[in-house]
Amino acid sequence: MTTKPALAPPARIALIGLGNMGVPMGACLVRAGYRVTGFDAAAPARQRFVAAGGATAETLVAAVSNAELVVAILPNGKIVRDVVQAMQPHLPPGCVVVDMSSSDPVGTRALGDTLLSAGFEFADAPVSGGVRRAVDGSLAIMAGGDAATLDRIEPVLKAVGRAIFRTGGLGSGHAIKALNNYVSAAGLVAAVEAIAIGRRFGLDPALMTDILNASSGRNNTTEVKLKQFILSEKFDAGFPLRLMAKDVRTADDLAHAVGVPSPLADTVADLWDAAARDLPEAADHTAVGRYLAKLPAKKAKP
Ligand code: NAD
Repeated sequence: MTTKPALAPPARIALIGLGNMGVPMGACLVRAGYRVTGFDAAAPARQRFVAAGGATAETLVAAVSNAELVVAILPNGKIVRDVVQAMQPHLPPGCVVVDMSSSDPVGTRALGDTLLSAGFEFADAPVSGGVRRAVDGSLAIMAGGDAATLDRIEPVLKAVGRAIFRTGGLGSGHAIKALNNYVSAAGLVAAVEAIAIGRRFGLDPALMTDILNASSGRNNTTEVKLKQFILSEKFDAGFPLRLMAKDVRTADDLAHAVGVPSPLADTVADLWDAAARDLPEAADHTAVGRYLAKLPAKKAKP
């Protein structure tokens, strides 16, 4: 069996999804020398990519019909599966598909069955680091799939990311991405609740944060979110609450799919879903603090 060549520049990439992440990731790919054709269902998103130096197609079919690689960076796995179903009859033979969205790992495995049996290569490579690190091409990437496929897309991943982890078979990148965000989301709620309880008891929230950061309660929220975005009431850390709620639900669904008891994930997923329903569509994930503050107080135990 001959090894297929790596997808180095100037390979032709169709980039599907030109949102907050897709536009800066696409700009990195263009800077690296790839021939990128972007597509998004929303015309204003396509215009933003053109303004960032990219080229776009008016239809999904036009974007993918000449591609060596299709990169999806879309809101969720259901949308990725719908888009792949629509584009599959138009993909050139041997095309590689990479889902860089935060999708559900069970759905990713099912999509892999369809694509691989039709002769395409497929990998999942979700990202972490937010818009800021998408802009400077320093995302963390969790890549799952066949080693030969991951070898082929390595130059593409290096054009948008810095730390690239190979996580195992197809779907494993999506699994660790969701589980990471579950741990982050649970830690955020724990920190916000602790501050609210301490504040009501008379403690100073800023001092509490300093003590947490010097003690065993330290986590990502206490270090980079509490003072910066929550105590300051700026609530603009840059990662939307609706995406965090989706990721926590994905992690909880995975727990149920593999049959692992997850009482905390059940509760945390319900809480983030409720916050996403309650707060405006554009709310930042740190605004979950606002939602928690509105909940009715519990009665003191006798
Ligand atoms: P976004 O909502 O800003 O962008 C998604 C884009 O997909 C939109 O422009 C939308 O018009 C487009 N779209 C939706 N349905 C489509 C379809 N059927 N065909 C074509 N285009 C379609 O989302 P984002 O912030 O760019 O996030 C993309 C993915 O990356 C998500 O899975 C998210 O969870 C993940 N992610 C986001 C961040 C972040 O900080 N924003 C960080 C890490 C991972």
